Amino acid sequence: MVLPNFEENLQKYAKLLVKKGINIQPGDWLKMTISVEQAPLARLITEEAYALGAEKVIVKWSDDFISKMHYQHQPEEVLTNIPKYEIDEVEDHVLNHRVCRLSILSSDPGLLDGVDPGKISAYQKVATKAFKAQLTATQNDELKWTVAAAAGAGWAAKVFPNLSSTQEQVDALWDQIFKSCRVYEDDPIAAWDQHVQTLKEKADKLNEIQFHALHFKATGTDFTLGLPENHIWASAGSVNPKGEIFIANMPTEEVFTAPDTRRMDGVVRSTKPLSYAGTLIEGMVVHFKDGKIVDISADKGDEVVKKLVFENDGATGLGEVALVPDPSPISQSGVTFLNTLYDENASNHLAIGSAYPTNIQGGTKMNEDQLREHGINTSPVHVDFMIGSAEMDIDGIKKDGTVVPIFRNGDWAI
Ligand code: ZN
Ligand code: ZN
Repeated sequence: MVLPNFEENLQKYAKLLVKKGINIQPGDWLKMTISVEQAPLARLITEEAYALGAEKVIVKWSDDFISKMHYQHQPEEVLTNIPKYEIDEVEDHVLNHRVCRLSILSSDPGLLDGVDPGKISAYQKVATKAFKAQLTATQNDELKWTVAAAAGAGWAAKVFPNLSSTQEQVDALWDQIFKSCRVYEDDPIAAWDQHVQTLKEKADKLNEIQFHALHFKATGTDFTLGLPENHIWASAGSVNPKGEIFIANMPTEEVFTAPDTRRMDGVVRSTKPLSYAGTLIEGMVVHFKDGKIVDISADKGDEVVKKLVFENDGATGLGEVALVPDPSPISQSGVTFLNTLYDENASNHLAIGSAYPTNIQGGTKMNEDQLREHGINTSPVHVDFMIGSAEMDIDGIKKDGTVVPIFRNGDWAI
């Protein structure tokens, strides 16, 4: 089987990413990172970007097999020695051109299984430091950025192992991507406008109330999380300094803010597998005490999560709390995508590591010390993990102790 009207839908998807996702304006530079396997999509994106007046489109190709070979064969000191010209290039794009960044994810989530986790985490540490200018500009929305996905064959095989051919697996994954991103709608861009509005109404309500803390309860989870003063709940629709609106994640179903990382107590259990640094992590249990992760374990990927939390600065803190109703289309699809971009939109989640400074009033003007004084976590890592389910209850606790139900049985109650 080949998906009906695949080419037409791929074109609609490319247009959606460039027009609604990045919101390309005349004169913009666009940098896309994409797999060689997705060349047809890359061509369509390039075409749409120039049609909207982009001045320059830069394509950064990758290949799963070659990426893995680099990890396997390069000695750690070579792997972690990022040459200056690579850093200069990234800084030039970011600082001199405010390049728009479109990242198309399609990798096999188990790509780096079997690679020494120490090597992976050593590289990630060096890379985040080397490309800090780009990371900061992205997290502060100083440039327009969108993360989206494409159906890679290795990824599709992991998501749909019971389908017999590669073609069927890839088609099934594209079908889910198109559904989740509303590509099958007659006018996907209008459908997104409506969706963004719905999410914004929930965020507005939470912003008005300004809860002091949240309490999460479900099997294996009993967790209280503080919220900082003047926190901002955000949802789809970010704004760059020029006032241009872009969508950072496609799809997105979440309403999220930054927690007060100094006020965390209790235990949470993850409810979906997490693909991190090419490793699949399952059955995570995280214990918090007095504002810190004091213990973390996982049925699968235990070593990787322990390294993540205890070997990175600020990774015993949390940087995001996000609310996603269980009835969201991605959750209802019943598919576990093994990719955070999709799975986080099926479920309430928390992020280990850094917060978005945009989630607190004046945050983008604060330095790291000032952010920490407001309870906003800083870290070179940001890793979402899913804790939501159809049975999860969430209460909002006001400063005076009043308790207001926010979620009941996995859905909005506010
Ligand atoms: Zn999130
Ligand atoms: Zn996140």
